[in-house]
Order: sequence, then C-alpha cells, then structure tokens
Amino acid sequence: MDPLPLSRRDLIRLAGASSLAAGMASLGFPRQTAADPAQRADAKPGVKIDKPDGVPANLVDGRVVEPEQKLRVLHQTDVLVVGAGPAGVCAALAARQTGAKVTLVERYGHFGGQWTGGLVLEVAGVQAAGGKVVTQGIGEAILRRAEKLDRAVINRRPGVNPTVDAEALKYVMVEMIAEAGIDCFLHCWSVDAVSDSRTVQGAVVESKSGRQAILAKVVVDASGDGDLLAAAGAEHETMKGRIGLVCRIGNLDKVDHEKAKSAPPPRNLGSPTPLPGINWVNMQGPEGDALDVRELTRLELAHRRQIWKQVDEIRRTPGYEQVYLVETAPQLGVRMSRMLAGVARVALDGVHSGRKFDDVIGVGGDWTFKLGEWQIPYGALVPKSIDNLLAAGRCISGEPKAADFVRVIPTCFVTGHAAGTAAALAAKQACRPRDLEVPALQKTLREQGAYLG
Ligand SMILES: Cc1cc2nc3c(=O)[nH]c(=O)nc-3n(C[C@H](O)[C@H](O)[C@H](O)COP(=O)(O)OP(=O)(O)OC[C@H]3O[C@@H](n4cnc5c(N)ncnc54)[C@H](O)[C@@H]3O)c2cc1C
Repeated sequence: MDPLPLSRRDLIRLAGASSLAAGMASLGFPRQTAADPAQRADAKPGVKIDKPDGVPANLVDGRVVEPEQKLRVLHQTDVLVVGAGPAGVCAALAARQTGAKVTLVERYGHFGGQWTGGLVLEVAGVQAAGGKVVTQGIGEAILRRAEKLDRAVINRRPGVNPTVDAEALKYVMVEMIAEAGIDCFLHCWSVDAVSDSRTVQGAVVESKSGRQAILAKVVVDASGDGDLLAAAGAEHETMKGRIGLVCRIGNLDKVDHEKAKSAPPPRNLGSPTPLPGINWVNMQGPEGDALDVRELTRLELAHRRQIWKQVDEIRRTPGYEQVYLVETAPQLGVRMSRMLAGVARVALDGVHSGRKFDDVIGVGGDWTFKLGEWQIPYGALVPKSIDNLLAAGRCISGEPKAADFVRVIPTCFVTGHAAGTAAALAAKQACRPRDLEVPALQKTLREQGAYLG
C-alpha cells in the first residue's frame, strides 16, 4: 500500500507535541479552524479523517487547550427542549400542540428520564388531599394513554399513587412524540449554550457525529440538572441530594409463604409493579454531588455491589430462594443538583398553605394525601436575567427545602407542560418568555387540559 503523503495536520498529530503545533503557528502557519474542504483533499478514497474541522486539543504547559472551532449547525427549530424526562417530554408535546416546530435532545436512548431509565415507577402526587387529580394536562394524557395497554399502569384510584411499567411508558412516549412530529436527537448531550450576550439562541451538542449546534428561538432546560441554564450563565443554586440506584426484583409470586414463616422476612422487598411477581425497589443512598463525575462513578459502582448483596441476602431467606434481580436502573438515581434562581420560586410554606399566584401555571399535589393543592407561579420557570430560556422539571426555581415537592414526577409533568406552551407562544409572538402575557398563556394551558386551580 502506498504511504499517504503527510498533511500538516498529520504532522502535528504524529509529533504529538503541542509545542510543535504552537511552534508552527508562530512560524506563520494559520491555525486550522473552520470546516475547510481543502483540508480533506489529502484523504484518499476510503481513508476517513475523523476530525476534518480542526486539530485535536493541545497539551500546553500541563493544561489542555481546545482550538477555536466553527461548529456545524445540525438543526434549527422554534423550541429546543434539552432532556427527555417527564418534564422534557411534556414540554416538547405541549410546545408542538401550541404550534411550534419542536426539537428534543436526550443524552440516552429512551424517553422518561428518572421515571423510566431510573426505574422510579411510582408517580407520587398526582392527587391532593381528598383524592382529586390536580396534575392535569399532558402528563395525565400520557398516563391515560398508557392505561389502555395491558400491564402498564396500576393503582389509578383515589388515595393511591399510580405505578407504571417503564417499558410501556417508554413505548407510549415514543408513539406520542412520533405522532406529534417532534424532531428528536437521542444519544446527544447538550454541553453548552449558544448565546448572544444574555439571550440564548440554542445549544451546543455532542454526539457520535461530533460537536455541533442546534439553533432555537426559545430553549427549555429540562435536563434535571439545569445543565443549559448553568451554561447560559443563569443564576442558580446547587444542592446535594440523596443519590441511589433503583432496581427491580422478580419471582415475588413464587415465595413459599409456609417456609417463610420460619424466619423474619427480608428487608426492603420494594413495591409491586404492573408486571406479575416483579417489584421495584427504591434506594435512598447517601447525599452526593450529582455534578461531580468521580462521585457519580463511586456511587454507581458501590450501589451495584450493594444491590447484588442485598438480593443475595433475600435469596438466602427461607421461602425466598426463587427471588432474583431483574435489572438495576440504567440511570443512577440523582434526586437534586441545580435549581434555577428565577423571578419567583416555589416555597415550602406556600406549598403547605396552598398559596395562590396571579401567574399560576399549574398545581401540585401531595403523595401522602394530607396537603391540599398548591400553585406554581410562571416566574419559577423564568430566569432572573437570561432570556429565551425557561426551566422545567426538578431544576425550576424553588427553595431547596421545597425540592421534594418540586421534583416529584407529577410536578415535573406540570412545569414541563407550562414551559413548553410558554416557549411556543414566545417563539410565535417573537417576544421574550418573560414578556409573555400571562392570561393568554393561562388560557392556552386550560384549553390544553391543564388545571390551574
Ligand atoms: C431514587 C429516586 C427515587 C424517586 N422516587 C420518586 C417517586 O417515588 N415518585 C416520584 O414521583 N418521584 C420520585 N423521584 C423523583 C423523580 O423521579 C424525578 O425528580 C423526576 O423524574 C425529574 O424529572 P425531570 O424531567 O425534571 O428530570 P429527569 O427525570 O432527571 O430527566 C432529565 C432528562 O434529561 C437528560 N439529560 C440530562 N442532562 C442532559 C444533557 N446535558 N443533554 C441532554 N440530555 C440530558 C437525562 O438523561 C434525562 O432523560 C425519585 C427520584 C429518584 C432519583
């Protein structure tokens, strides 16, 4: 085989020395930056250059310097939703229903976030005291659609929290997103905001296709961790939360109850799911920093070992020998990390007292069925100073002590729905989300089945 002629890029790469790259730049070679077809001319047919747009990162004095690069625009849209958890899916469906062109970006390969990927199967807080379903709207529509399937939802009655099957919900959400005509990019991380001064214009994404950009009129951050709002420079709080790993165990219907009488029952057998004999087992886990990759790695590995040992212990209990580990959740159970500092926020005393807001965009419930309904203000989705960005889901603006109410799945349905509708209206009216006429937003939300109290 003929040796390939070495291009300048190959030379730099082969030398592997940043000093050479820096040296070449200082000798007057222009730095390689933009997508330049000429740079690809040195590739022979069948020979692929994986990094046609620029040189690799350089190691300079012990620090890694990324070369400036111009990113390809992967896609343009009216509303970009980052993260396809319960909030993101509701936001995308709501924005589409409001008439916007919508794009949904998700780092994993499924919809549902912690709900499905985290195996958090109990939808806790759709009702308030008295059993009324208060979290009406798109999330409720997803549950109703799932209910029509066999073995998808149980416990749909007053005074109980519904529990779902994760695969059924993943399927239902695929169907609804596809029917709505929402553009999706899965296996795609949003890693930065595209911003013009303090106005967000889209997001930088990373995937197997490389580093690209998606441009949007309005962005909804439904990443759970507030990745986009932080990248855009929006004020926020960070907090530690308990990080666990949920699992499912099977053959609970094969427990030999006669034999089991001979010993104390095992601890934490979890709760039933729609699938016969299969329970989901929640895990509290320790408080951790969900924004620290070392911490996430340590906890993921520790939890896997703990779960295996725990199930082993169950199997050694007389009568429970047939029980087995079905699966550990594909997603580590992160409860809280960043919360937006918005123009308003959800406060715990407001939850307890049922405080009302003129700019209410939805209502939350209580999974213990003791509290009445409480309202969520639109201002809790709107950053104090960054424009064209809204938060949805567990990263909206709230007191950390109110986080348990903000983060449950039904509240995320509600804030996702409202953020999506608001984003679509702002895109349509070419106005900043903070300047939206709230009565018009409320009217649209009600028309879409939302309950605002
Ligand atoms: C262990 C545990 C137990 C829980 N128990 C319950 C319970 O019993 N009942 C209940 O109602 N709630 C419970 N919760 C809370 C609830 O599951 C979550 O708070 C809720 O799912 C949050 O929804 P979300 O859409 O805001 O975020 P998430 O569900 O976290 O979804 C965020 C999505 O964004 C994606 N994403 C994140 N960053 C990026 C990025 N940079 N680019 C692209 N995509 C990104 C993620 O992959 C994910 O799909 C529990 C949570 C945990 C962790």
